[in-house]
Amino acid sequence: MSKFVYFFGAGKAEGNGEMKDILGGKGAGLAEMTRIGLPVPGGFTITTEACDYFLKRDRRYPPELAAQVSANLKRLERVTGKKLGDARDPLLVSVRSGSARSMPGMMETILNLGLNEKSVEALARNTKNERFAYDAYRRFVQMYSTVVIGLPKEELEDKLRSLKSRLGIKLDTEVPADGWRGLVTEYKAHFRKATGKDFPEDPNEQLWGAIGAVFTSWMAEKAVTYRRVEKITGLLGTAVNVMQMVFGNTGDASGTGVCFTRDPSSGEKEFYGDFLLNAQGEDVVAGIRTPMPLKEMAKRMPRVYKQLERVRGILERHYRDMQDMEFTVEEGTLYMLQTRVGKRAPTASFKIAVDMANEKLISKNEALLRIKSEDIERLFYPVIDASFPRAELDKRKIAQGINAVPGAASGAAIFTAEEAEAWAARGEKVILVRRETSPEDVGGMFVAQGILTATGGKTSHAAVVARGWGKCCIVGCEKLDIDYDRKQMTANGRLIKQGQWITIEGGDGLVFEGKIPLVDPTLPPAYFTLMKWADQIRRLRVRTNADTPQDSRKAREMGAEGIGLCRTEHMFFKDFEHPERSHERQLAIQEMILADNHEARGKALAKLLPFQRRDFTGIFKAMDGCPVTIRLLDPPLHEFVPHERAKQEELAKKIGIDVETVARRVEQLREANPMLGHRGCRLSITYPEILEMQVRAIIEAAVECQKQKVKVLPEIMHPLTLDRRELRILEQGTRRVADEIIKRAGIKLDYLVGTMIELPRAALLADQIAEVAEFFSFGTNDLTQTVMGLSRDDAGRFLPDYVDEKKAGIFSADPFQSLDVAGVGMLMKWAIEKGRSTRSKLKIGICGEHGGDSESVKFCHRVGMDYVSASPYRVPIARLAAAHAVLEEKEEKRRGAPRRMG
Ligand code: ADP
Ligand code: MG
Ligand code: MG
Repeated sequence: MSKFVYFFGAGKAEGNGEMKDILGGKGAGLAEMTRIGLPVPGGFTITTEACDYFLKRDRRYPPELAAQVSANLKRLERVTGKKLGDARDPLLVSVRSGSARSMPGMMETILNLGLNEKSVEALARNTKNERFAYDAYRRFVQMYSTVVIGLPKEELEDKLRSLKSRLGIKLDTEVPADGWRGLVTEYKAHFRKATGKDFPEDPNEQLWGAIGAVFTSWMAEKAVTYRRVEKITGLLGTAVNVMQMVFGNTGDASGTGVCFTRDPSSGEKEFYGDFLLNAQGEDVVAGIRTPMPLKEMAKRMPRVYKQLERVRGILERHYRDMQDMEFTVEEGTLYMLQTRVGKRAPTASFKIAVDMANEKLISKNEALLRIKSEDIERLFYPVIDASFPRAELDKRKIAQGINAVPGAASGAAIFTAEEAEAWAARGEKVILVRRETSPEDVGGMFVAQGILTATGGKTSHAAVVARGWGKCCIVGCEKLDIDYDRKQMTANGRLIKQGQWITIEGGDGLVFEGKIPLVDPTLPPAYFTLMKWADQIRRLRVRTNADTPQDSRKAREMGAEGIGLCRTEHMFFKDFEHPERSHERQLAIQEMILADNHEARGKALAKLLPFQRRDFTGIFKAMDGCPVTIRLLDPPLHEFVPHERAKQEELAKKIGIDVETVARRVEQLREANPMLGHRGCRLSITYPEILEMQVRAIIEAAVECQKQKVKVLPEIMHPLTLDRRELRILEQGTRRVADEIIKRAGIKLDYLVGTMIELPRAALLADQIAEVAEFFSFGTNDLTQTVMGLSRDDAGRFLPDYVDEKKAGIFSADPFQSLDVAGVGMLMKWAIEKGRSTRSKLKIGICGEHGGDSESVKFCHRVGMDYVSASPYRVPIARLAAAHAVLEEKEEKRRGAPRRMG
């Protein structure tokens, strides 16, 4: 026979704190608190397995449940010396929900169960407090009617409101006994009218009604939605806790409260909480009355407060983490009603972890494991000022999209990148709003406070670029109707014209009208301490993806130990030091592309050389002494030239050629499948002069820095290689240019030549490629695309179905966000082994979005890479993940169960 019910009370508990899965968090906490001798009212927990049975079998209970509940109820009656529904000394219970993961406010609880016409009289007599007894009764009738039977709350609340206005009073606490008694009669009449039945007097019927209602609440729409949004899966259901009621509302020697063992917003080691005198627990949470701070309780109930402080210490030492507790005081006696690990602000997570390690409550390693990558991510973004009125915020909301990059930003809504740059140049703050973005928009994106697009998903261009800059971004906001011609947009019927202010909040993907006050996050000292601990134990090095000196400096601040990917194409669009001169380089690259012979191309490239050299010098200086991997030109050339007639005319005029020539050349560049087309190192094979110019810029910059005593470690990287011979040609071209410059300068300068591994063929033939390459960098964006045959730009249409558990549930995560370890990862492992078989010192890293994803970073550790490279704001996430990887590996060794790789 299965055991579905676990008793706790009178200092003994059948369950314990480890049994969250079947007792739920609340039940496990109550059992554990009972075991360690804290004052907990008696009761019993019906398991989540019973709930699972109930929901799967058309709301029937397991056959053995009735007997088990009745036996436990008897035991509870024995322990308390009271009887449920008794006419002399009635036992009252609460029936509370509670699953393994906290789902605040999602499921139901019923208080004061067991009251009926007879037992309420007994309660009034025994407590000599008629008002209290009828107050408890009307609460019960109301909760039972709404929660168990499903009558609308408003109708009952209306009756309470009109009662108070008849009596001419404002507060519930002023209602006299007679008032409550009358209200119960009204409620019951209402119940009869609405259901055709009398309100149940039989406490057993009440109990089973409540148990069924709590189980059923697991499948309520809001609970299902909450689990989906929070990605809570694999739970059986909710447990039900039936426990003796204690009363905080019997008078001024009673009260109720919620408290945290440390301050959940700052993390300070201060006892923090809210308390209400003469109130029942639900009143604090429901916000009916404004509670007083816990400190006040020390004055009003000094003895009980001291006892509560002792409980605080016991619980924190026992659980070794910050706890969130509910308690009630009945006539000077303290009862603990709930304890759980407390939710905390990102700043507080760091402070609490570091403090607890310093207090020797936990080890440094445990402190590291307490921090999740989201904690770091959230730490860095500006936030909407919490003191801004909630109601006003709701009024200003105009749309919701996909939350691509968290944080908040305000600015004038601007609909083109050019215009955004112009506004920003005048010192205005702008939010760039586009249907979608493309590489041509980087300038406008760069100057914007935040980015909002109507289409695209979390791996769209806008999202990837914004994430790299730590810039707040919302994509796929489908309700936006953008009219580029009229320079305006509408969202849910509201019109926003160019220049009108909006505020976007990337954490939830919300768009607001107007300017909402934002506050900057401040990095707590504990963050720096914790990151130092992470650096001390990780093996993987962490580099950054950075294209500009600014990004490089930012990344150093974030702890980057080099650049793993410097893309050269953004430099062709944007002069990051002198933005007003960006058009010069744009024009030069376009001239180069439009050139129809070697000589003209050479002339255009000569114009680009000084720009690139200056950019590289800036980056080398910012990265003083750290390795810098520079990727030669990668995107297909058509991305650099205009496709609209008007722009082509403008360009033709500037270079002094015929517009038809421009149009023809653009047409020639058109490809059916550009991502698999003429791009990457294929450009250097066709146009060796592009490679020459880029290598020249890199090496000349390096020589210049070296002369200024700036140490430089350039690593020249060829993208999209697929063959040894191909790479050999590129390598020889690279060395010829580089060595000549170095020789002429008469100095010693080391540099490496290597390749990206982003095509399956390159991975398969890695041993051959490593004969030429001194390093590999896995370009996992393209590698995922080519291994899986999934286009990153188009997969948004169906990939969500593959990830959605309710639909196909084929992948557990988007493979562009978290590395597909099983497939792509297996190929990477192969390539690493093969590559090192020919060149044992082969340096191996990863660049691309995955370098900033915790799970992917851990994989990189396990397969023995040397480094990962992440966008500047994700560098700390990678540092922490690399430390977690070491700790998890240790733990696996200890348990003797090596984890399978890929
Ligand atoms: P939630 O999970 O929504 O917080 P709870 O089950 O914790 O719901 O109960 C809601 C409120 O009722 C809490 O404030 C709790 O303190 C109070 N409460 C629950 N059971 C009892 C009880 N046996 N005696 C007194 N108060 C109770
Ligand atoms: Mg609670
Ligand atoms: Mg690539």
